[in-house]
Amino acid sequence: MGFDEMDVDTIWQDGEFVDWEDAQVHVLTHGLHYGTGVFEGVRCYDTENGPAIFRWEDHLERFYQSGKPYDIDIPFSREELTEATKELIRRQDLESCYIRPVAFYGYEELGLNPSNCPVEVAIAVWPWGAYLGEEALEEGVDVSISSWRKYGSDQIPTNAKTTGPYVNSVLANLEATGNGYTEAIVLNGEGNVAEGPGENIFLVRDGEIYTTGLAESILDGITRQSIITIAEDLGYTVHDDATISRGELYTADELFFTGTAAEVTPIRSVDDNEIGAGTKGPVTDELQTKFFEVIERRTDEYEAWFHYL
Ligand code: PMP
Repeated sequence: MGFDEMDVDTIWQDGEFVDWEDAQVHVLTHGLHYGTGVFEGVRCYDTENGPAIFRWEDHLERFYQSGKPYDIDIPFSREELTEATKELIRRQDLESCYIRPVAFYGYEELGLNPSNCPVEVAIAVWPWGAYLGEEALEEGVDVSISSWRKYGSDQIPTNAKTTGPYVNSVLANLEATGNGYTEAIVLNGEGNVAEGPGENIFLVRDGEIYTTGLAESILDGITRQSIITIAEDLGYTVHDDATISRGELYTADELFFTGTAAEVTPIRSVDDNEIGAGTKGPVTDELQTKFFEVIERRTDEYEAWFHYL
């Protein structure tokens, strides 16, 4: 669904609430030419206790940290960004939504060195349902291994959520969807599993859970961290620094993606090879069920993860 069909009309830009159509940048914006921006993706859930932003402080922390390699010094405090976001959600009467903060080098000059360019910041919120589709959450998705490799941390910091490098994810997603799959899995420079274009990946084998480690060229996903915690609390052994080979994907008992957008999405096939029984596996089901119980606040566990409006 396009933005124009959504009932949203306000964006926060550089300290002001502006009408949706007025949230503009100059065509000579540094970030537009060189991808010198950082962003976040966060969800606000309609919980039993009213709207609540999931792990807001952790997302904010990653937002500021992502800017560091690029000297992007976000000129607003955590309190200002928090207040702006909450006000945006309230003003537009949204109970649940996706939240997109972005900070980028703006308009001044176009040399590669961005030091003289201002850092511009915006926050938008909009309703966004299941990223890979409602059916995907139940039935699982068909994925393919991308022919595009993930860049290494010695090329671009993979723990920063930087706008420019997302062309790697766009290429992987376009290839996969162009070939009839729902999403891709991207291998790292060593040829081992990194992650999805916008998701982390988990594997289940013999009742234990594995997810690729931070040195495998991945983003340290906040949903990944949440699922590790939830799984350990449910008594599972979780290997959170795994190296996973391509072959191990095909023979896994279960595979699933995690991410703010994708939440917990089962993977039912990789390159047309059925994973497990070719449907949502029992461990994935238990974790996904618990995850939704937590985010809808049908339990009082993990209360510290929620920032109520
Ligand atoms: N990897 C990549 C490349 C991503 O873009 C995302 C989405 N932010 C994730 C993993 C999952 O991270 P999170 O759970 O924090 O959304």
